[in-house]
Amino acid sequence: MSSALPASRPKIVLLSLGGTIASAPATPGGGSLPTLTATDIVAGAPGAEQVAELVPVSFRQLPSSHLTLVDLVALAREIEDRFADGFDAAVVTQGTDTIEETAFALDLLVADSKAIVVTGAMRGPSILGAEGGANLLAAVRVAASPAARGLGTVVAMNDEVHAARWVQKTHTSNVAAFRSPMTGPIGWLAEEAVRIAVRPVGREPVALGAGAPADIALLAMPLGEDGRLIGRLAEAGYEGAVIEAMGGGHVTPSAAEALERCAATMPVVIASRSGAGETLRRTYGFVGSEIDLAARGVIFAGWLPGPKARLLLSFLMGAGVRDPRAIAAEFERRRELS
Ligand code: GLU
Repeated sequence: MSSALPASRPKIVLLSLGGTIASAPATPGGGSLPTLTATDIVAGAPGAEQVAELVPVSFRQLPSSHLTLVDLVALAREIEDRFADGFDAAVVTQGTDTIEETAFALDLLVADSKAIVVTGAMRGPSILGAEGGANLLAAVRVAASPAARGLGTVVAMNDEVHAARWVQKTHTSNVAAFRSPMTGPIGWLAEEAVRIAVRPVGREPVALGAGAPADIALLAMPLGEDGRLIGRLAEAGYEGAVIEAMGGGHVTPSAAEALERCAATMPVVIASRSGAGETLRRTYGFVGSEIDLAARGVIFAGWLPGPKARLLLSFLMGAGVRDPRAIAAEFERRRELS
């Protein structure tokens, strides 16, 4: 350790998974690939070593669209092992395309109150205005802050702190892509300071244990969709389904019939494709409405968007919760934030 470093710093494991923050063009002018290691990423964030003793680990080197649920479970176990070995917090870097899913998966799978902070970059290190180094320094500051304990997993991007449950990527390229439409950010960074203004309530981890995540389909229901794929899910090997329905939880009449048949064979969860708000319970009575679908045996995701509802259903079923009524109760408890 250099003598210029503070004597006592929190010990943080930095697990890199790839993504833009770890990418460089393979050939001059060519497309970027995630070739940088965790050590390279730390080198791009001068000052981070002053804040914490960082142990870089290249856990995966993938575009985030290539990560699997098995990777996320392995990541959660790695973090638990590092916490058991005495690490004070974890920072995860990865591609932004699926940051909200990794963050929510860790929020569900790691019950420990130590801080887990996920970050990435919208602009690669070779692009003018690259923000990966600043995001990593911010993520390390958040992870090192006592205020970040007990928040569950958070995402630090663009000097904001977002709770895993609420955060969504809302833009394909803007550095301000990450937003929490339901609540706003729970905190922010200002100069060296980390401010946590809001502490989320009602986090409910899932005890997956040695279970494997279940295979869950995610299907969107646009205007006029008759839902013919719904009847194919069981033969394709899916164990459950999440449907991103219109508005508060609405589908076409033929999709409603397909969902009723499907719900007799596997758990079917209805989320909204709207991007914010809860699925409704008792507002509309037409065929394919939330009241009609409830009578057909589906489960409602509440305020969880489709990709996060898929993770929760996958981990619940992997943990052995397979009875649709028990699954519905798990979703309801989380909806209530109790
Ligand atoms: N826009 C993504 C990123 O910022 C692309 C690459 C990925 O998600 O791995 O990282």
